[in-house]
Amino acid sequence: MTEPVSPLRLPPQATDAGQRMQQYPPPETWDDWVEWDQRQWPRKVPRHYMLVPTVCFNCESACGLLGWVDKETFQVRKFEGNPAHPGSRGRNCAKGPATLNQVNDPDRILYPLKRAGGRGEGRWVRVSWEEVLQDIGGRIRRALQEGRHNEVMYHVGRPGHDGLMEWILPAWGVDSHNSHTNICSAGARAGYAFWMGFDRPSPDHAAANVILLISSHLETGHYFNPHAQRIVEGQMAGAKLIVFDTRLSNTASRADTWIAPWPGSEAAILLAIANHLISTNRYDRDFVRRWVNWEEYLRLVHPDSPVTFESFETALKSLYAKYSFEFAARESGVEARLLRSIAEDVANCGGKLAAHNWRSAAAGNLGGWQVARCLFLLSVLTGSIGVEGGTSANAWDKWVPRPHRLAPHVKRWNELTWPGEYPLSYFEMSFLLPHFLKEGRGKLDVYFSRVYNPMWTNPDGFTWLEVLRDESKIGLHVALTPTWSETAWWADYVLPMGHGSERHDLMSQETHAGQWIAFRQPVRRVALERIGKKVHRTYEANPGQVWEETEFWVDLSWEIDPDGSLGIRQYFESPYRPGERITMDEYFGWMFENSVPGLPEAAAKEGLTPLAYMRRNGAFEIRAGAEAEFERPLSPEEVAAAHVDEKTGILYTTAPASPPKNIVPTPAPVATGLGRPIGVMIDGVPQFGFRTPSRKLEFYSTTLAEFGWPELAIPEYIRSHVHPDLVDRAANEFVLLSTYRLPTLIHTRSANAKWLVEISHSNPTWMHTSDAARLGLATGDLLRVATEIGYFVDRVWVTEGIRPGVIACSHHLGRWRLAEGEGTSRMASALVELKESGGRWDLRQRKGVGPYKSSDPDTERIWWTDAGVHQNLTFPVQPDPVSGSHCWHQKVKVTRAEPEDRYGDVHVDTRESHEVFKRWLALTRPPKGGWRRPHWMLRPFRPDAEAYRSAPSPRAGVSGRSQ
Ligand code: SF4
Repeated sequence: MTEPVSPLRLPPQATDAGQRMQQYPPPETWDDWVEWDQRQWPRKVPRHYMLVPTVCFNCESACGLLGWVDKETFQVRKFEGNPAHPGSRGRNCAKGPATLNQVNDPDRILYPLKRAGGRGEGRWVRVSWEEVLQDIGGRIRRALQEGRHNEVMYHVGRPGHDGLMEWILPAWGVDSHNSHTNICSAGARAGYAFWMGFDRPSPDHAAANVILLISSHLETGHYFNPHAQRIVEGQMAGAKLIVFDTRLSNTASRADTWIAPWPGSEAAILLAIANHLISTNRYDRDFVRRWVNWEEYLRLVHPDSPVTFESFETALKSLYAKYSFEFAARESGVEARLLRSIAEDVANCGGKLAAHNWRSAAAGNLGGWQVARCLFLLSVLTGSIGVEGGTSANAWDKWVPRPHRLAPHVKRWNELTWPGEYPLSYFEMSFLLPHFLKEGRGKLDVYFSRVYNPMWTNPDGFTWLEVLRDESKIGLHVALTPTWSETAWWADYVLPMGHGSERHDLMSQETHAGQWIAFRQPVRRVALERIGKKVHRTYEANPGQVWEETEFWVDLSWEIDPDGSLGIRQYFESPYRPGERITMDEYFGWMFENSVPGLPEAAAKEGLTPLAYMRRNGAFEIRAGAEAEFERPLSPEEVAAAHVDEKTGILYTTAPASPPKNIVPTPAPVATGLGRPIGVMIDGVPQFGFRTPSRKLEFYSTTLAEFGWPELAIPEYIRSHVHPDLVDRAANEFVLLSTYRLPTLIHTRSANAKWLVEISHSNPTWMHTSDAARLGLATGDLLRVATEIGYFVDRVWVTEGIRPGVIACSHHLGRWRLAEGEGTSRMASALVELKESGGRWDLRQRKGVGPYKSSDPDTERIWWTDAGVHQNLTFPVQPDPVSGSHCWHQKVKVTRAEPEDRYGDVHVDTRESHEVFKRWLALTRPPKGGWRRPHWMLRPFRPDAEAYRSAPSPRAGVSGRSQ
């Protein structure tokens, strides 16, 4: 028992309660911070903590955390914000501190498990990491030796790191990366990328005059907490906040102007605003003249017009004249006068428009990518690109350090992830994988699912189940996951990987106008190493034998190529000890020393190595403020080594490029035979320009035109698959919004965080009062929501907070498990019965949530019973033919539940879902040979240029422009 001590005997920082409550412990005290032990109250018993910075892993924002390690037990006591982190600045959302729940989750997977019975039977045996590495490594080695590279696939949900797999997978020589992007941000990415090459925006909310959001950004957006705090700062400084959200979200409630448009009409509204700017001549003429590819547009589309800016302005006026406020009002259901007032606000933004769309409308609709393209048109017209208070490209505000050694681009192309039908997709057509496997387009020998739960998260989960259980389609399924999931249940290996405080990763995000990197650390390992304990592998310091991916991949790579004969091992050797296996200190330390500008100097000032600096502070600010790459004047040396193409003004060089220290994904240079483009002449001045084929902002996308979509090459409005004309409201048809997130949950892992589940555990279907009255429904009544392939049964929540004709259901809930006491967390999932007959699936909840005994006494205090309803199972895949994005919104028919229906019931016919897949596939316009994809466009894990070639192309111009 520790004796009570007088405050006088405590370090000075612990005696000032006010300071302690209101400020973060100063960094110089992080080795030994003292606080009273609250459990000993009223006695004053000090507890000593070591504060170790790390990075939250519960969403993509990468906020800083401080892990409070009790120096007596070396257990993590709590997580608070890291004030040294430039993105989050010491603040977190509820999910950050709840990392503690995940670490202490009584149901977590603590040891590597191997399937003991048939797939999905739920019988497992504990195995050693050595056995795991040998078995999987040997299997991959055989696949590579036999030329079956495309049978190895890595499929990630939440990456949580930058640059890691770009190091690992090319070293194996595989084109095997698969992501969740096309059920998430593909639409927005495509819309931005056709403009500027980069596929995401970086708005400077804090300094904006007008903030325009097409999302519930303040509560769940991309990047949630760092953006939210800056949006509020912007508002407090006088910025106007305009929110488009069909649902009354918390974000909408904070807006100066909130509109609730019919889903899919957003682009019509944005073009009406653009038309207002253009027709009243209130756009930044000089910016548009200098940086938009209007000359190219005129030459290709109006060859008879003089190539003058005035004739472009005439064309622009006529192109968008049809988008009146009255037209947009008819499409959206929002009054024209409101749209006009928003347009006035945009017109008066003074070149400081911070605008963002990520998921929401871009992820909901057929043609959703045009929502982002039309939104960015407003940024362009107002001259708000790359300036303070405006909107930048993500890559200008992000830094991904180059590791000591990278393999060359692989010479393979994987048609399972990059099928010929979708040459412009952003990115892998991951949610179509089970249909491709069903069609026999290929098979997988080793399939890694990593922090990914496609059976539950993706649309059409039962089709996933059908292929996951089929060993002829997936030979070995390895689930790398911190928690049980519906998908992991059907794995052959379940390998426990660390939460945010149990792993190393580098992160950098475009959270604001600036540039930073942050270092996620295994907190307990770092604390043990600070007191001199040697830890060889992170699983020695984590709970049970929970590991981390970075070390796992290094060891697995050595196992695949133990003698180096495959040429793989060389990439995983130490840069400091030739021929020896690289350590985590060496991998990260080398990047901090060599690839992060300013970090070595900042560390030296404090007498630290760059690695020690990052281990102590957890983050480093590379740059503060906006910086636009495109305006950089070329140096005299660059100009001297270049020649100008007089027709386009593009400067080319034949000098070799030096490898960049920042390996953030960028578009590839558009080589044309004249050399490598390095800039463009703007008013006689050589500047860097944009990384697009024209080197300018592409109002007219030659890429879209050449790859089969000439009518969509400029920002246009595409009628959604849920356009009001297609929804028969008299027949009780509705649009179902299924894309909204709850601020307290993430897709899979929050089910293992008791604080979060206690707050959020229901997803009733929102319905407007007028619709509910028509259907005779009251809050709490059961309703059946029928999609094209099945139905689900949910309770209704009657509210004024949604547009009539539209219903909404959050996609975070409805977790389920097949066995009592095992699988998906018991505090968040229903025990279900699953029946199948010839592709017809029925899921019925046998038992909801309830108290249970575990190592955590809180599980006996569980008071809630609801686990929500799994709606995504009933959604067919609906891939947009251009961006490849799944179009999440559903046209549904709503009725009162049938007498035999029970809450949570799900019925699906996967034969029908395959037919829907084929129907949407038929919308595509695959290039007829030539190029699988424009080489210049972003592609993660870009293969060698030669791999982009397919059969010779009959389509003129495709190869030249695109390469
Ligand atoms: S926004 Fe919340 S969940 Fe996301 S990284 Fe920050 S603290 Fe974690």
